Amino acid sequence: MTTIQGDSVKRIEAFKNQKIETLAIHGGQKPDPITGAVMPPIYLTSTYAQKEPGIPVGEFEYSRTHNPTRRMLEDCIALLEKGTYGFATSSGMNAISLIISLLKQGDEVLCCDDVYGGTYRLFTKIAPDMGLKFTFSDFTKLSQDASSLESLGSSKTKMVWVESPTNPLLKLIDIEAISKVCRRKGWLLVVDNTFMSPVFQSPLELGADIVMHSMTKYMSGHSDIVAGALVTRSQELAEKLYFRQNSMGAMCSPFDAWLVMRSLKTLPVRMKAHQENAMALARWMESDKRFEKVIYPGLESHPQHTLAKKQMHGFGGMISAYVRGDLKKTKSLLSRVKIFTLAESLGGVESLIEHPAIMTHASLPQEVRQQLGIGDNFIRLSVGLENLEDLKADLIQALE
Ligand SMILES: *Cc1c(COP(=O)(O)O)cnc(C)c1O
Repeated sequence: MTTIQGDSVKRIEAFKNQKIETLAIHGGQKPDPITGAVMPPIYLTSTYAQKEPGIPVGEFEYSRTHNPTRRMLEDCIALLEKGTYGFATSSGMNAISLIISLLKQGDEVLCCDDVYGGTYRLFTKIAPDMGLKFTFSDFTKLSQDASSLESLGSSKTKMVWVESPTNPLLKLIDIEAISKVCRRKGWLLVVDNTFMSPVFQSPLELGADIVMHSMTKYMSGHSDIVAGALVTRSQELAEKLYFRQNSMGAMCSPFDAWLVMRSLKTLPVRMKAHQENAMALARWMESDKRFEKVIYPGLESHPQHTLAKKQMHGFGGMISAYVRGDLKKTKSLLSRVKIFTLAESLGGVESLIEHPAIMTHASLPQEVRQQLGIGDNFIRLSVGLENLEDLKADLIQALE
């Protein structure tokens, strides 16, 4: 089947038996056929020559519609996510907007209650003006009885939105159990896989219809790009998404696409290193009296550690924690770190630390934050690839 993105089924077939470490480096790419350049060129062009009206010289016509560099990235992310059709967008929010453009006025969406702040803002401040209704519930409770998801929906429900682990509380949602209910009800299941990256979790294999990423985070991994991605296996969904990507201009630039492709080559190696540091740091924090509580899916104390082992191939690089003390004590830690940078975002090689209530999750109403447990002494760490002892020492000096 040839869509406006060409025959991605055939292109992807050539890589199908390769493992993720190989796909991250070679997926969707080959040396430039003209020069033999090993690294794919950045096709900085908006338009392409035609032989006669409507007959392009190559496969391409206009770079909003398709661009050779972006296409290589889109094939690569499709392969990493074990899907068929990939889409690279200008940001994670751009990718989410593209997904909700699949909905019509009056449609309803069931959403987990602990989503990225920007996602929550889009779903509560903009989507209602488009006639879409989002309801938020605690999906972690569904792991006992997934069929209770059914009672949350109505005849107007069209989509279920899941982030797992959730941000910033790192709660886990049983994607496979939910996907079975969605399949039965004909609801589309979307999973935001930003926190795990394709290396540690494969939502399409667990039954999701669309997987979404903020590639700004782990996939770029160096805190220097803003980009997003979608992947699906469904040809029907892909055709709709291609049409909307082109119609709405929801794509990333060839330069950003190239940079993400470069970053992806080290994604499997980086994820393993992030996890190794995070696991050790979480264990140490849990044993240290200066922290009241530590949340990390790799710790046995995580209430869903069993689900983590079942559904994920790793535990990731994000840790959340409650500092023993008040807002003043917590703020002092955040202001005194020297190796950790006090900043929003996550997933880069450098360690970041932040205060969700004041920073990333300020767009949540106070009572919602309270209810979720995002309070004064709550912090979130994105553990980078620095030396573990240096990271520990940095937290210790900042806490003293
Ligand atoms: C950052 C983030 C987004 C939004 O992505 P941008 O690239 O910043 O637009 C969506 N979901 C999650 C989980 C994120 O961390």
